[in-house]
Amino acid sequence: MTFDATREGALARDERDPLAEFAERFHTADGLYLDGNSLGPLSTDAERTLDRVIEEWREYGIHGWTDGEPPWFRYGEYLGDRLAPLLGVDGDEVVAANSTTVNIHTLVGTFLDTLDGRPTVLIDELNFPTDGYAVRAQLRQRGFDPDDRLVVVESDDGRTIGEGDVVATLEESDVDLLLLPSVLYRSGQLLDIERIAAAANEYETLCGFDLAHSIGVVPHDLSNIDFAVWCSYKYLNAGPGAIAGCYVNERHFGTQPALAGWWGHEKDTQFEMRSTYTPAGTAGAWQIGTVPMLSAAPLEGALDVTTEAGIDAIREKSLALTEYLIALVDERLGEAFAVGTPREQSRRGGHVAIEHPAAERIVAALAAHGAVVDFRPPNVVRVCPAPLYTSYGDVWEFVATLSDIAESGAHEGFDPDGTVT
Ligand SMILES: *Cc1c(COP(=O)(O)O)cnc(C)c1O
Repeated sequence: MTFDATREGALARDERDPLAEFAERFHTADGLYLDGNSLGPLSTDAERTLDRVIEEWREYGIHGWTDGEPPWFRYGEYLGDRLAPLLGVDGDEVVAANSTTVNIHTLVGTFLDTLDGRPTVLIDELNFPTDGYAVRAQLRQRGFDPDDRLVVVESDDGRTIGEGDVVATLEESDVDLLLLPSVLYRSGQLLDIERIAAAANEYETLCGFDLAHSIGVVPHDLSNIDFAVWCSYKYLNAGPGAIAGCYVNERHFGTQPALAGWWGHEKDTQFEMRSTYTPAGTAGAWQIGTVPMLSAAPLEGALDVTTEAGIDAIREKSLALTEYLIALVDERLGEAFAVGTPREQSRRGGHVAIEHPAAERIVAALAAHGAVVDFRPPNVVRVCPAPLYTSYGDVWEFVATLSDIAESGAHEGFDPDGTVT
């Protein structure tokens, strides 16, 4: 069968889409919102649970800690139970807490503290900057020079990280701990977590992943890794700066968290207010301070939508949407455009990197034409057809808009900062 690049073809795909009706539950402003891997939109469900917590605050005041439904006191753990099926692990191993960057600090710090001697830490060249900043800071705080103790796996092509290179590095160097992204924020490559985890186990390397660009769109089975972190405002749609989360494999329960705080104390005795700290016997120990209820509540409703749609159905539609987007780019855009995302489904997350030397101006022109996407330096137009609210018709409209801009040269009139010149 030849590929159908017509608008009718897109609409026919929408007719067959089992998740099509979920879009009604999201407030995407007019136009094409293809930026859900930066900030997912508000859903009526997230609004409902946020409103409920505000109502509980109004009605119960401080008693919300015990009388909220669910009680605020254990809300981080409650959300952890709800997140666990997306990660293929037990509820006790997951907690909603802190921010992603803070979770990297406390988890990397925690595991560095378990090591003897000078630690060697593996990261990758293409990771999101905050991950590297936090890892370096944790090394420095323990008196180590990051330039000395970090092994950075390099990319061959500026787009992807070879799992074989990671495994070879584990084999050659005595790596104590690794932190890698599940999906690279720029190219959208999905790393083979299983393969890396197996090698990490073999070489006795503590293995952590940052799932910021995969949680909520790619199903996971994390039972073979040691820890993970993520944010909830991308594919989980929990709102700007929403509470983040972390996973700690149960074999590490009882380890002292690097950034200890009373909210991670054993819950039953937390309010005895002892001067000695007893960490909770679950991932809840990696909480630090009071759960931020107003940035946690929207995650509950947002998870209702994800759970109702089902993570496997979400992944299936995500792959179909990105496949379709890539096929349209191949078919309709000229030679100056290249797809920087791996074409094998098993190596692709939820977004697509379309490369062009004038990407920054093109993103500004797209915005002026009502299409919201990201520019990522130096040359990436980053497009996220998030499955819960993006249709095949939206993808088709997007490529048509991009093609019009490219053909007319409309982007040449835009300054990289978005102003028309
Ligand atoms: C989005 C993202 C973050 C964000 O960290 P915050 O602490 O929420 O600002 C961290 N790491 C990766 C890989 C990301 O994609």
